[in-house]
Amino acid sequence: MGLAALLTVVSSAAVDDGCNALASSHPDKTFFPGSERYRFENEYSWTSTTYLGPSCIFAPQGAEDVQFALQTFRERQVQFAIRCGGAMPIDNAANIGPEGIMMAMTNLTSMAISDDTETVTIGAGVTWPPLYAYLDEFGVTANGIRSGNGGVVGAILGGGPFGFMAYEYGMSNAARSLECVLADGTLVTASAKEHPDLFWALVGGGNNYCIVTKAVLNTIPISSALIGTVSWGSGVSEQYIKSVEQFALHGAEHPKASFEGQTRWVPSRSPDISFDGYLWYSGEGDVPVGLENFTAPILPITRGNITRTTIGQWSNEFNYAPPFGTRAIFHWLTSDANATAARIAFDTYYESIASLADVQGFSTAFSMLPITPIVTAAPRGNAMSLGKDDSPAIWYVESPLWSNPEDDERVLRIHAEANEKIRAKLSAAGLGPLPFMYLSDIQKSQIPETFPAYGARNLRKMKAVRDKYDPDRVFTELVPGGAKVALA
Ligand SMILES: Cc1cc2nc3c(=O)[nH]c(=O)nc-3n(C[C@H](O)[C@H](O)[C@H](O)COP(=O)(O)OP(=O)(O)OC[C@H]3O[C@@H](n4cnc5c(N)ncnc54)[C@H](O)[C@@H]3O)c2cc1C
Repeated sequence: MGLAALLTVVSSAAVDDGCNALASSHPDKTFFPGSERYRFENEYSWTSTTYLGPSCIFAPQGAEDVQFALQTFRERQVQFAIRCGGAMPIDNAANIGPEGIMMAMTNLTSMAISDDTETVTIGAGVTWPPLYAYLDEFGVTANGIRSGNGGVVGAILGGGPFGFMAYEYGMSNAARSLECVLADGTLVTASAKEHPDLFWALVGGGNNYCIVTKAVLNTIPISSALIGTVSWGSGVSEQYIKSVEQFALHGAEHPKASFEGQTRWVPSRSPDISFDGYLWYSGEGDVPVGLENFTAPILPITRGNITRTTIGQWSNEFNYAPPFGTRAIFHWLTSDANATAARIAFDTYYESIASLADVQGFSTAFSMLPITPIVTAAPRGNAMSLGKDDSPAIWYVESPLWSNPEDDERVLRIHAEANEKIRAKLSAAGLGPLPFMYLSDIQKSQIPETFPAYGARNLRKMKAVRDKYDPDRVFTELVPGGAKVALA
């Protein structure tokens, strides 16, 4: 037997042993292939590229269960993955194949607001729509993401969250503290006061440091907003792009207003690109102030209304999920706050991917996010080096969807070529890309450039914090998925 085959046998014996150990002590929390709960957890995530089929799935009900599982993994040297909301569209970021075990945070859904309503303590399985709905009851909310049933903890570890309210309160500052289990099994609290180095590294540091079991979030006093899920139709690229640029340059004058632009192409429905987006205004009254460039007469809305609602209602009514089994990726891109830059990115993207029209189930969104200086005023000295030099800017997220694994290679190749062209053109024009990388929204192929983009000094510190809290490299070697600080 060759060495590789021998290692496979040894590791598969270890993973079986690990699953059996979990199942014998926690039978009601350990799930095997063939059970309905196993299928639910394995296929929980947003994209079917992540349905990797672990040997078993463990769903802890509290920190002690996490400690027990971690000890089991360490003793047997079993690889594992940690999944919260499953919204990061990188295949092995939060799941693992038969060589390992997935820890699914599905059961950790507690939410408890403080007596003064200034903080809310949540379990690591909570996703944004239920959290927003819970906070609605108290007339407050959290500075979280926009749409989508993504996980709260995953968004914090991914460097966010970033959503509508970041235009007033800044991004990446939702968490006041995180409770987590370190590699040696110790349960610690990381905050500005306790283990501040760990807290600093966790926001934007992904799954490199510990397993988060709880988070205390700051609430913000917003009880309702005017929110629009709207479209401006097709053929309006010039004004739309101009409005995005203007919002990036001047939006900070109206911090209660925000906008996310989503241009969409669904070739099976229409050859045209539609110009869609979300509008938000958390000030008083029925007329949004600061969104004039996105409403008539400058850019008349052709579908959808702006109505006063709560983010809890809005995010729970919003059906963002693609058809079951859809394949998806994100790709992250940035440029100066400049209409020429946005035009280059937009035109080059859609021209380069036009040949994918015949891919079954293909559709794509090219989001444009105007970034004001308030958004990038994240906590001072944050690990991502996000600060005033990063704005005004435009951030873009490509999010193609398609149906069949056989088309993966083609979709990824065409996107790689498109992005090479976009970057070359932006660089030649001196308009981008900018240094900031947002771990939450990257493509797998962008992992190597993500932590280095945080800056050499911060990366050194992130590595030192990792060495300190996980000297045996448990979260590097036993958790193979996701961006790895030690390998950056
Ligand atoms: C439809 C959609 C809309 C989105 N909209 C926004 C938006 O408006 N704003 C924004 O900022 N982001 C947005 N995102 C991105 C999303 O917030 C990030 O990808 C985020 O990381 C997802 O978190 P999750 O918990 O759902 O992910 P998961 O896929 O479960 O996990 C992401 C990573 O975090 C790690 N992790 C998860 N839980 C733990 C834990 N308890 N301990 C240690 N490591 C853990 C995982 O191992 C994995 O590497 C959106 C994503 C989707 C799919």
